[in-house]
Amino acid sequence: MSKLEKRAAAPVPKDWTYAPAPEARDVVSLEERYGLFIGGEWVEPRDGEAFTTVSPRDEEPLAQVAQAGVEDVAAAVAAAREAFQQWSSLPGSERAKYLFRIARILQERSREFAVLESLNGGKPIKESRDVDLPLAAAHFFYYAGWADKLEYAFPNRSPRPLGVAGQIIPWNFPLLMLAWKLAPALAAGNTVVLKPAETTPLTALLFCDVLRQAELPAGVVNIVTGDGRAGAALVDAEVDKIAFTGSTDVGKAIQRRLAGTGKKLTLELGGKAANIIFDDAALDQAVEGIVNGIYFNQGHVCCAGSRLFVQESIAEPVVEKLKRRMATLRVGDPLDKNTDVGAINSRMQLEKIAELVESGRAEGAEIYQPPCRLPERGYWFAPTVFTNVAQSYRIAQEEIFGPVLSVLTFRTPDEAVEKANNTPYGLSAGVWTEKGSRILWMAERLRAGVVWANTFNRFDPTSPFGGYKESGFGREGGRHGLEPYLAFD
Ligand code: NDP
Repeated sequence: MSKLEKRAAAPVPKDWTYAPAPEARDVVSLEERYGLFIGGEWVEPRDGEAFTTVSPRDEEPLAQVAQAGVEDVAAAVAAAREAFQQWSSLPGSERAKYLFRIARILQERSREFAVLESLNGGKPIKESRDVDLPLAAAHFFYYAGWADKLEYAFPNRSPRPLGVAGQIIPWNFPLLMLAWKLAPALAAGNTVVLKPAETTPLTALLFCDVLRQAELPAGVVNIVTGDGRAGAALVDAEVDKIAFTGSTDVGKAIQRRLAGTGKKLTLELGGKAANIIFDDAALDQAVEGIVNGIYFNQGHVCCAGSRLFVQESIAEPVVEKLKRRMATLRVGDPLDKNTDVGAINSRMQLEKIAELVESGRAEGAEIYQPPCRLPERGYWFAPTVFTNVAQSYRIAQEEIFGPVLSVLTFRTPDEAVEKANNTPYGLSAGVWTEKGSRILWMAERLRAGVVWANTFNRFDPTSPFGGYKESGFGREGGRHGLEPYLAFD
């Protein structure tokens, strides 16, 4: 039977659900066991400790990964210290060549990285393919451009690198956070020891292969895997700076630990962003922005629009439209190209989400979850929206870090500002209105590092990102992102 005849004979679908469109996973070849990447070599941890990293979509074991101890971390820092002399004295234009090379290799191997990111982290392939990978490469391209222009970026301030930077990253954007951290540090002439999150080490380990391909001098980037103990060891090691992205609790602990040591510190911590919809906003676009704001990456986003503030007069139609749109979200296999919402990153995170959702019900909020069949194995949570939420409820105050939205209302712009700022956090916010003047008025008053207008979750390497209050301090991205990696006269 010819292809055409076969197609004609195929049954006409009764409903218009999507056929499976799985991304091939054989572009990725995994080692059975990974060591630590120190001084350009794979080394075994001193005490041989290792753990299994799994895929959150079905708990399939993927590989054995080394647990770095205090001595391993010290060895990595020593390797970085040794490499610093040579790396920092290279002309900026030479450092740039390595960064450009890394960016291009990431682009060439982007499919492989995207598949691995989705496999190990649970995010939909269309996000790792279309967001994480292009942005990671863009960060290296962007900072490559700055490497030989530091004197122009900071005129009359004689910028010079700090030395060895210790970098600790979370599991929600594993490769992208690696790029955010490494690119400015290397462009500024520092060497690095980076610790990926326990649940998502694999793209960072594959990235070591990119470093070798790019022929980056040994020791300039060292990767040590492990749980929080490895992170704590890095904080205490002989580094000149710590850059941390993760939870506010761990960020505070690190700040306490570093007080008085003279080590520099930047913290990018949690958030509880307000997404504010005025009655003159283009509602259909706003609903897309709400969905993107909270269900992108299963809501594992520090700047997620997890508190929706809708002007009271349009609350009903907005919630109605939102529920209709939520019913079309496809939850399932992260490697399926049609998937909108993938797997929750870990069992621990799933339990945390479930606990907070339960508290929302118990406190009296009204829950809606669209009908959807969740896979039996793995970690899953249906997209959720809460209405009838009071400011004091835990779901309106605490970072849930999952696909859970709390809807609140307001009447006047002043009230919107007051309520939006009523949070210990201050990372991001969104404003939806037709009036440019109102956007500016709101942006001036919202205590958030980023304010998006008529859009949400937009990222660009040229734009600084960072928080106020308990969301941390220091900026990543843009010229601002270089500053924490430089010392000045
Ligand atoms: P953590 O803050 O614990 O993890 C972030 C990174 O820090 C990981 O690499 C982690 O290692 C490491 N780490 C853990 N403990 C220490 C320590 N004492 N010293 C130095 N480094 C340490 O976040 P979790 O992954 O545990 O997530 C908990 C909650 O944090 C989430 O539910 C979410 O609310 C929030 N979160 C916020 C993020 C953000 O970007 N704002 C990102 C991630 C989480 P390991 O992976 O082994 O724990």
